Parts: sequence; C-alpha cells; structure tokens
Amino acid sequence: MSAQSAARQRGPEGVRPIRTLRGAAGAVLRRYEIAVSDYAAIVPLDPRLDGDGLRKLVRLACLDLYRVSWRRAFLATDGARVLCWYVAPDAEAVRFVLRQQGVHAVVWPCEVQGPSDTGPAQSGRELIVVEVAREPALDAAAMASRHEATVATLGAAGHRVVRTFATRAGGPLLCLVEASDAVAVRVCLTGAGLAPGNVWGCTALEPEATPLFGATDGNAPAATAPPHPRVDRTAPDASAEVDAVIIGAGLSGICALKRLLDMGLRVRLYEAGRDVGGVWHFNRYPGARVDSESYTYGFSFSAEILAEWRWQELFAGQPEVAGYLRFVVDQLDLRRHMRLSTRVASARRDAIAGCWTVETDQGERVTARYLVAATGVLSATQLPDIPGRDDFAGESYHTARWPEAGVELRDRRVGVIGTGASGVQVIQTIAADVRHLTVFQRTPTYCIPQRNRALTDADRDAIARDWASILATCQNSYSGFVHDFDPRPGLAASAADREAKFAALWEKPGFAFWFANFGDLMMNAEVNAHASDFLRRKIRERVRDPEVARTLMPDHPFGSKRVPLENRYYEVFNRTNVRLVDLRATPLVALTRDGIRTTREEHPLDVLIYATGFDAGTGALTRIDIRGDGGLSLAAKWRGGPSTYLGMLVSGFPNLFLVNGPQNAAALCNAGRCIEQNVDWIARCIDHLRTRGLTRVSPTAEAEAEWTRHVEEVAEATVLRVNKDSWFFGANTPGKARRASIYAAGAREFREQCDAAARAGYPGCTME
Ligand code: NAP
Repeated sequence: MSAQSAARQRGPEGVRPIRTLRGAAGAVLRRYEIAVSDYAAIVPLDPRLDGDGLRKLVRLACLDLYRVSWRRAFLATDGARVLCWYVAPDAEAVRFVLRQQGVHAVVWPCEVQGPSDTGPAQSGRELIVVEVAREPALDAAAMASRHEATVATLGAAGHRVVRTFATRAGGPLLCLVEASDAVAVRVCLTGAGLAPGNVWGCTALEPEATPLFGATDGNAPAATAPPHPRVDRTAPDASAEVDAVIIGAGLSGICALKRLLDMGLRVRLYEAGRDVGGVWHFNRYPGARVDSESYTYGFSFSAEILAEWRWQELFAGQPEVAGYLRFVVDQLDLRRHMRLSTRVASARRDAIAGCWTVETDQGERVTARYLVAATGVLSATQLPDIPGRDDFAGESYHTARWPEAGVELRDRRVGVIGTGASGVQVIQTIAADVRHLTVFQRTPTYCIPQRNRALTDADRDAIARDWASILATCQNSYSGFVHDFDPRPGLAASAADREAKFAALWEKPGFAFWFANFGDLMMNAEVNAHASDFLRRKIRERVRDPEVARTLMPDHPFGSKRVPLENRYYEVFNRTNVRLVDLRATPLVALTRDGIRTTREEHPLDVLIYATGFDAGTGALTRIDIRGDGGLSLAAKWRGGPSTYLGMLVSGFPNLFLVNGPQNAAALCNAGRCIEQNVDWIARCIDHLRTRGLTRVSPTAEAEAEWTRHVEEVAEATVLRVNKDSWFFGANTPGKARRASIYAAGAREFREQCDAAARAGYPGCTME
C-alpha cells in the first residue's frame, strides 16, 4: 500500500474511520467518527454588553448546527470577562460560532479535571478563577507538576479546587476554586512560589429556562424564547450525530419525537416495524381492540389533531388505532426523522465523549447525547417452550406477530393457547368462523364486558365540548381512565348496597367495574372477595355447562392479573364447535405433527395461535445490547429483577430515559395519558440539563434502590401480594427473577412523585 493510500485509509487527522462501504462502480465510501472534546475560552467582555447580550453569548454556543454545546460559564464579578466551557469537534467551530455573534475569544482545547460539582459556592465562599500562565520554558511534564502543586497548595490552605481546565496550545492552567476571596487565593499561591496570573471572583451563569411544553406545576420555568436555534428540517436527517435517539415508533416514541423536536433537538427514531404504530402495527390479530375509551387514548397535545380525527367506536379496533397513529405522524410531518424497518441492535455509552453510540441491524451507526427507549411494556413476544414445537406441520402464529396479509381461519381447526387479554379477544372474534376451536387455558381470568358501540356525531360533539373536563378526570384518576375509584370503603356498604353497586358497574362500559369500584377493592381482601364472587356468578349465569363454567372461574383475587375486557366471550363456550381444555387438569405434553397432545388426548389442529404474551417490561430493553458506564449491560444489571428510578432512569446508564419502563405506573394505566406524563417528565429533565449547561443525568444507586423498594412495598400492600403469578412480577417468563414491575399506587400518585422530584431539582439524580 502506498503512503498516500495509507493516509487516505486513516482519514483526516483526529478522525477515526468507523465503516467502509463499497458503492456503485467500485467507489469506496468511508464514514468517520469525529470525536468531540472539551474547549475552554476566556471571553473578554465588551463593557457595553447588557444582560440580554450576555445571555445571548452564553446561549449561542449551544448551536446544534456546529455541534458546539455549552457546558458552563463563569462570569467575572467585575463583568469584564467570562470563562466558558464548551464541548465541540474543534476549536475552530467554537471560534466560528462566537465570531458569528461578533465575539472574538481566545479558545483553547483543554482537559477537564477535578470533581464534577460546579454548583453554587458554599455559604461564605466565592468561586474564584485562577489563571496560571504557561511559561514558554515549561514542557508538558513541568506544566502537569505545576498543576499538581497548585491544586495541592490550594487544598492544603483549605480552598477547594472545584475543577481545572488544563489547556493545551500554549494556554494557561485555569483553576476554579471555592475560597473566601480572590486575595486569599493569590496570597496562598504566591507564598508557595507558584506566581499566579489573573485571579478573579466569578459567579456561575445560569441561563434562563426554556418553556416546557406541558409543564403543569406552579414552579415550571418561566416562558422565554427557545435558546436553541431551529435546524432546517426540510430534508431527512442523515447525519451520524444527533441529540437524541428514540427507539420505537409506537405511542411512546411518536410522543417523545414530537416533544423533543419541539425543544429544538435533532432527533432520530428507529422502528423495527415496516410502519409506525408499535404494538398497534404488530398486533393485527382478529379482534385486537383498545381497552381505553378511544377519545381518551389519543394524544392531547395538538388541537388540530383533536379536532380533525373522528373516532368511530367507543373502543377502537386495531385498524382504527393504527390509522390514527399514521394520521398523527403524517400531520406532524414526523416521518423524516424516522428509520422504519430498522432494529436497534446495540447502544453503548461512551463516558468520555458523553454520548450513546447506537447501531442498527441495517449497519447504521449514530451518536446521541440522549437515548430514549420507547420500546413498549408489552412488545417482546414469547413462545412457550413446549416439546416438539417445531414438529407441528400446520400453521402457527403469535398474536403480536400476526401477518399483514391476514390468516385464513374459516373452516379450519384452530387452537389458541392462552386466555389473557389477547387470547380473549381473538377467541371471541374467530369462534363463529372456524370449523372447530380448541381453547387451551392454564389460568382462567376475570373478564368484564367492554360494551363497545359506534360513536355518533352527537357523542363526538359532546366529547369536544367536554374535552377539558374529560382530560382533567383522566389526569386525576387512579389509572388515567375516565373512571375513578369510589372513595367509600367496600365494607362500609351493606351487602345489598354492595351488590347493587357491583350490578350497576357491570352494566357500564370499559374498566368501570375495576377502576370505579370501591376505593379499597385492591387493598382489602374481603372487599375484593365480594367483587370476585360477583364475577364468578356472572360466569355461571352465562355458560350453560356447569363444568365448563367452573373451569372458566378464576380463584385469584380480581385485578391481581390484568383484567381483559370482553364482548360475549363467555357465550363462546356455549357453541358446539368450541372446546375448552383445562391445562391445569390435563397439562400440555407436546406439540405433534398434527396438533397438541395433553396428558389426556391429542387435539388435531390446522392452525395454532399463540396468545402467550410477552417478556413484559424489561424484555424489549434487554433484547437490545445496551451497555452503560464501564460496559455494564442492562440485561446483566437486571438479572435479579428490574431496578429503576421512577421507572424512567437507570443508575449506571446516564441519559438513558425509559418511557413506560418497568416499575412505572403506566402498565396499569390508560396508555395515552401515562405516556404523555412520562414524556413530559423526560422532556422536562432534559430541559433542566440544557438550560443549566449540564449534559448528564443519572440516578444515584441509593435513589434507585429506594424506588425499587417502594414499588415492592406498594405491591405488598395490595391484593397483588396474594397472586404474583403474572407478568406484573415477571412470572410468565421462564427463568426471570420475580420482582414487581408495575407501580400499583397508580398513575395519579406516580405523577405526583415525578412532579415533586422535578420541582425539588431531581434530588435522586446526579447531574453534571
Ligand atoms: P398474557 O396476559 O401474559 O396472557 C398469556 C396467556 O398465555 C395466559 O393465559 C397464560 O397462562 C398463557 N400461557 C403462557 N405460557 C403458557 C404455556 N406455556 N402453556 C399454557 N399457557 C400459557 O398475554 P396477553 O394476553 O398477550 O396480554 C398481555 C398484556 O397485553 C395484557 O395484560 C394487556 O396489558 C395487554 N393487552 C392489551 C390489550 C388491549 O388493551 N385491548 C389487548 C391485548 C393485550 P397463565 O396465565 O397461566 O400464565
């Protein structure tokens, strides 16, 4: 290889080749990774610079376009200069950005050392900048020892060195010190023969906060013009570095994308599916339908979308929900920020560069400061490990990976394994069409009537008129639905009143029987037993064969497993072409070429439907190779069960945000409402960082352990403690450690905890 071609292979100086592609006609395309590093600048200030000009100076370095971001600035108390600290690809970019604003500054590349605490000085102390001039005679080693001596001398005299900027290219050593005053620092260094240059008192500049979309509490930052200039978004973004990567284009990802773009961030979203929708793209099985009142399920952030989208059914079917999500994405013009049919394979944290490197199965590689996992609570499908699974000669499908072209079920012998929410919906929908249906049930579930109906124009008008109060009801209810618990304790009512209440709730649509029931339904075992008994009697009334009815009756507390909504589900078992197989009495032995064999007999099948659920909460995350500080993998961290702070942050994984992560209230919540709450909080946290020139957030190990303990404690205080045999505890995934993955105190309580943490300045997190 010639010297020239070797140089070409290496690429420009300071730039690392990351991938080589062979293009058309043998052309070699090479992609490079440009590292960003720290730069310090002392900016002499024009005395005429007023407050606005100064703020502009501080903000202007956050220009996304030039990948220069401002970290901290320290304004001299005499107003004559400011010490700025940037992260940028090179000094020229910083100079260019400053020059564009008419500011000429001395900019040096530097190594930042010292502890990360740059908060306000302790009371009675000031922040002092010491400029230790670099003498021409001093080489790097001599300068390093000068640095050590300076830090040691100041420390021995009781001054605290907060941070040092060891500048290169002939620049001075800049020490940021907490001390009583500048004179004391100068005297101390001069006395030790260290001859300081400029020594000046300063204050850390706090730029004004950005307005936060959707901030709800009184302490929300004041509205100001957005400090981050908008990037031209007319073309698809193909850059290898963005501010945030979002994984997933379901409700969560779409919501997060809209929110972060509104904040001026450059965002890239990756979605494995061929189209947007997340679970609503993949769960195309017959009968898939939302369990939230449709009009409360959609996003609340766009008046235009609220006005233009006309929900057709009280509980929309999968095609309508998927259509709604496509409509939202197109209306908001979000597709050009997305890469569809692209699965994120890995995400690795680079602690030095302070970013995540994300790689996809399509060979794409992008770096981002923030990584938002909008991967869904229930998206990682799982098939039971049944002997002979591959021997079955018929067709088999998982409900959540249903083929887009559909499946011909008419006149065929169909088996369904699983009777959770998916199984119930598919069973009640296909029973009348198939030649024979065999339902393989392991654990019966309490199902309550959905009472779906078409929405009329009058309904839609009423919804539009009452929208504000509907939204407020959802925001303040236990689970984000239009229903909320009756505050009365169940045992305070007489037996007759209790029965009357149960009967009235039974007639109502949606989750009324669950979430508008007595307030202690989920806490008091006796109240719960009355409700459970009521539902068992309903099953007995609806199913003709008493033995079949008995098999369909659960014995666990109502609500301790996710409650499916049904549309004439129980009547299915009165049909002559339907057979219920009780896998508790006759366990499944194996799949054979022709069907399923249980301990009693063989059931011949043409099609087998797995409605066997998901590796819930953690599965979608641990199936990606996510590695945080020190290369720790998320899968390894969670081997003993999930641990998070507020279900949204994970210690050791800075700037990784989970939307509806494990230990969040979202799993029991009306998804649309809780997703918006999660995304609001995440956006607010990012905004908090950016407006303070900070770049990193990570929960402390203590705060994470405390939240994990709290989530467990709440679960123990409810009827969930009696039955931990569900995905709520990871019990449905073989080999998974059992730990509460839902926050059972509910969405309202969760929101209050999240808001309190934000108001208090994120005490459970370290930020730098
Ligand atoms: P699921 O609730 O986990 O139910 C899985 C079913 O498969 C259970 O009946 C389970 O029995 C059975 N199963 C699993 N492995 C088995 C095995 N080896 N042998 C026999 N049976 C086995 O899953 P899902 O129904 O898909 O629902 C998951 C969640 O998705 C729901 O809880 C809900 O939150 C959400 N979802 C929502 C909607 C909606 O909003 N409309 C619709 C569908 C799903 P065991 O109970 O004995 O483990």
